[in-house]
Amino acid sequence: MYALRLPGWKSEPVLVEVEDPRPGPGQVVIRIGGAGACHSDLHLMHDFEGGLPWAPPFTLGHENAGWVHELGAGVTGVDVGQPVAVYGPWGCGACPHCRLGIETYCENPMAAPVPGGGGGLGLDGGMAEYMLVPDARFLVPLMDGLSPAAAAPVTDAGLTPYHAVRRSWAKLAPGTTAVVIGAGGLGHMGLQILKATTAARVVVVDPKDDALALSTELGADLTVKPGDTAAADIREYTHGVGADVVLDFVGADATMALGAAITRQMGDLTIVGIAGGTLPVSFFAVPYEVSIQTTYWGSRPELVEVLDLASRGLITPHFTTFPLSEAAHAYELLARGEVSGRAVIVP
Ligand code: NAD
Ligand code: ZN
Ligand code: ZN
Repeated sequence: MYALRLPGWKSEPVLVEVEDPRPGPGQVVIRIGGAGACHSDLHLMHDFEGGLPWAPPFTLGHENAGWVHELGAGVTGVDVGQPVAVYGPWGCGACPHCRLGIETYCENPMAAPVPGGGGGLGLDGGMAEYMLVPDARFLVPLMDGLSPAAAAPVTDAGLTPYHAVRRSWAKLAPGTTAVVIGAGGLGHMGLQILKATTAARVVVVDPKDDALALSTELGADLTVKPGDTAAADIREYTHGVGADVVLDFVGADATMALGAAITRQMGDLTIVGIAGGTLPVSFFAVPYEVSIQTTYWGSRPELVEVLDLASRGLITPHFTTFPLSEAAHAYELLARGEVSGRAVIVP
């Protein structure tokens, strides 16, 4: 089969022929029906130079869905041909966090299939015809109404903001305001998740006209371009008090500084984007009792929940499909900011 592989750090992906994967005991091979192109893959290609517990080469694609193709010995609970989404962060399965399904924060990573990674992050991912999934617990059967191509972005571009929004639910009562900074793959889903699961008004910040137009279409109450007046505009919209919850899906110096400037006292500032920025925190630098956190991806139970929202049409990923032969081109478009919503590779 063909696969889009990252050959090394600081390199562009290449489409090469590789062996079809075969499942060992307990493993499952999936025929890929959709593999999303995440901005994190651009960070892998351009920004990282090691420093992670795993390294290239591997097949890209860490947001995947498809159909069960072949079962390894002893696998029960899924059937050949069944449509499934793949839970991407693969932990050890046995530590306290993994037992709760929070495999993102596995506490025994050396016992995981790859420490701190998964398919498309150290191990072979879904930008290929087939993908090896090392344990059937990583598969979520797709509910009615959701194709694998639509389910693929839900597994990361949906799950990551879902986790970030869910942990702030208690601060998003009626009368509150949430801000989404960066309305790309993750942000356009985060906006919809806020709308579907909370009563907060939602402000979206993005420099791109098309991202703001899509946000308005998806229910944003106010759209703002970043720049000198953005913080003042959002403060004015919130009657001077600031936003209860700010979700930064960019993670640059400027977006974190904006977040710190617009978060309400006792609010949440959640940094999801990994553009490499930093935020100085000191007694007077951020509003009183603001909780500042980073979040990584989401849990297995949360994937079931966010897929349910998508299958019922309460959230809808906006995506453009590309054949595997154009996967590298899809990443070029993503790097140039020319993807609306998500690019999904359909081999
Ligand atoms: P994307 O390229 O699809 O979207 C990024 C959006 O941010 C674009 O619409 C862009 O116009 C906008 N943007 C750029 N600069 C901005 C600024 N200064 N102010 C406001 N908006 C700005 O990217 P994506 O796939 O949605 O990923 C977003 C970030 O989240 C990336 O850094 C990615 O690596 C990271 N990420 C983190 C996790 C996690 O678990 N924490 C998971 C997936 C992705
Ligand atoms: Zn990702
Ligand atoms: Zn674990």
